[in-house]
Order: sequence, then C-alpha cells, then structure tokens
Amino acid sequence: METRERVRIFDTTLRDGEQAPGCSMHLDEKLRIARMLERLGVDVVEAGFPIASDGDYRAVSAIARECRSVSVAALCRTAAGDVVRAAEALESAARPRIHTFIATSDLHLEAKLGKSRAQVLEAAAAAVELARTYVDDVEFSAEDATRSDVDYLCDVLSAAADAGATVLNVPDTVGYSTPAEYGELIRTVIDRVVRGRAITVSTHCHNDLGLAVANSLAALLAGARQVECTINGIGERAGNAALEEIVAALNVRRDRLPFESSVDATQIYAASCLVAEAVGFGVQPNKAIVGRNAFAHEAGIHQHGVIKNPLCYEILTPESVGVPSNAIVLGKHSGRHALALRYSELGFTIATAELDRVYRRFTALADRKKRVFDQDLISILAADRDGSSRAPVGVSA
Ligand code: MN
Repeated sequence: METRERVRIFDTTLRDGEQAPGCSMHLDEKLRIARMLERLGVDVVEAGFPIASDGDYRAVSAIARECRSVSVAALCRTAAGDVVRAAEALESAARPRIHTFIATSDLHLEAKLGKSRAQVLEAAAAAVELARTYVDDVEFSAEDATRSDVDYLCDVLSAAADAGATVLNVPDTVGYSTPAEYGELIRTVIDRVVRGRAITVSTHCHNDLGLAVANSLAALLAGARQVECTINGIGERAGNAALEEIVAALNVRRDRLPFESSVDATQIYAASCLVAEAVGFGVQPNKAIVGRNAFAHEAGIHQHGVIKNPLCYEILTPESVGVPSNAIVLGKHSGRHALALRYSELGFTIATAELDRVYRRFTALADRKKRVFDQDLISILAADRDGSSRAPVGVSA
C-alpha cells in the first residue's frame, strides 16, 4: 500500500495576500473568505497581523471566534507588545497559533533592524518563549532566510526550537531562491536544527522570479511538511505561491509528489472567485488552474484532440477544481435561472430579492457585451453587495 505523507496547507491570503497593493479587505469580506478557507479544508488560516492596526486585530479575533475547525494564526514581530497583542486577538480561538518573525539576513539586520546577530537570536528565543506561555502552537519565521548566512540561520532556528517553537518557517521573502538551492536549504535545516524532534519545517515562497510554486514543491521533496500559500497567488509584490497550483500539482503528479493535503480541490474555483471579488480584481486569463483560459482550447488541432479525448490536451479536468461547465453561455438572452445556477456553481448563495437586482445589472451589462464571464458576474455581485454604484469591472471584456 502506498504511503502518502500529510502536508499542511497554511493559507495566508488574509495576511500576506492582503498586504499586496490594492488588496485590503473589509471585516465582512475577511470573514467570508475565512469561512470559505475552512470549507476548502486548509489546515491553518493566517488571519492577520494584530499589532498592525485595529482593523487587523478585530479581523483576527472575529475569525478566531468563528472558525473552529482550523488553526487560526496571528502574526507578530518579536517585541513583547506584539506577541501579547497577537495572543489577545487569539483569545477565543479553538486552535490558536502565534506566528512570530524576525529577519536573519545581515542586510536586514543592518539596514532595517539596526541589531546585532546576538540581539536578533536573543529576540527570537524570547518571543517564542513568551508566546508559548499563551499557546501551545508557536511558529517562528526567519525573515529573508534565503539570503541569510546558513550557519547563523541555523543558530537562530535552533534557539527558536529550544524555546519551544512547533513550526520553523524558512521564508524566501524576496523570491530569490531556485528550486534546487531552496530544497538544499530545507534539508540543511532538517539535519542541523530539527534533528529528529517533532518540529514541522515550513515553506513560504514569493514569486518574484515566477518560482514560488516550484520552490515550495522542492521544499516538500526535501522534507518540509507545511506550505504557506495564498488563493490566486496574491501577496506582496509578485505574490506568494498559489494554493490552487500547489494542490493541483499534488493531485495530478501523485507519482512524483507522494503527499496528500486535506484540501477539497473541487472548492478551488469558488474560493478563487470569492477572493477576486473581495480584492476587486481577477487573475490573468492564462493563470494556471483558475484563469479563464486554463481549460480553453482554440487551435483546431487541439480542439479536435480534446473532443476525441480530453486527455490529449488536459492533464486535469475543469470539474476536479470546481470550474463550472461552460455548457451554459451567459448573454443577454439568458434568464434568471441560468444566472442563479451559475452563481451557485461559483459558490455564492443569492436571495430572491438580491437576484432581481443582480439580474438587472446583468442584463444591462449583457446589452453592452456579447458574452458575460464569471469574473463579470463577480463584479456585478460585488457592486450590489457594496450597495454602491461601483460599475462592473468587466475585466474579461
Ligand atoms: Mn511573505
């Protein structure tokens, strides 16, 4: 019987994702996304950075109250006040995790923190120790780990582990690493720091060179067992590793990636739509897994092949990631039933009164466009729920 090791999915859409330009979200949007993430089956929801703002504090504490089946993580720097604020925000969580971080690269130490290596090591250990007085589950991140001196990085991670960290994260904060290099670093941390202890090593990869997912997968093969990622890959700058791509890769390449996650892949498209609606923009059309063209075939030879057998050009089916069938094309001749059906396929429940209003917006848009795409429907719904006159974005035009 095949053995598949369990990989934990740590979603940071609501923290790193929200830090992306133009991606700030309201409390009700964050709650809606947190519920969706719970339904999706992620292991950890990083809900925010409580010391950063009162809004973040409220969001973390509301999500902690409501989401009972997932771990809820709150981010904090190593300062005692930060740790305490995170602990307070998590007070009512069923499975609280404090996630504390400090940079370990000399560049960050000198240019940003103005601290010596000894001071940073001390701060890391003290923060983890303090966090452990509040919760049993403490994650430590060595910011800019991939540009840190490896010996020093291992010293800091060891100090965090000795202080009681349950998860050690090795972030590629600036998306600088390559897959082989990152895998090697993860292996070094496991050999030199973990040394058989019950500590999970985690990846956190950014996409500045388009390598976030490749680096994350290399880390899993090297022994990491938690992946930090976001829906639609949103996040600082070029974004984080995309959750949907990681989960799809694990499902499609079971031969090469002998891991399993608890994510229900059929909820992926609905989650993608919900996040697009909350941040106000969708993914590029050619985005893997959730882009409008991800399952589209235009070239004649490809169409012929796909009609004969989808396997000719599709390595996964649209249904496997929850992409609705395109049998129903929505345009100005479409009725309310088709519209309501498509919304429910996209993961939205719509009351009758709302459907009337949304339908009016839909027909107005359909008069101007030949075809209305899922992304347009999400914009229409967002405009209605805002109660504003925000015009449908129509990004799919
Ligand atoms: Mn990050």
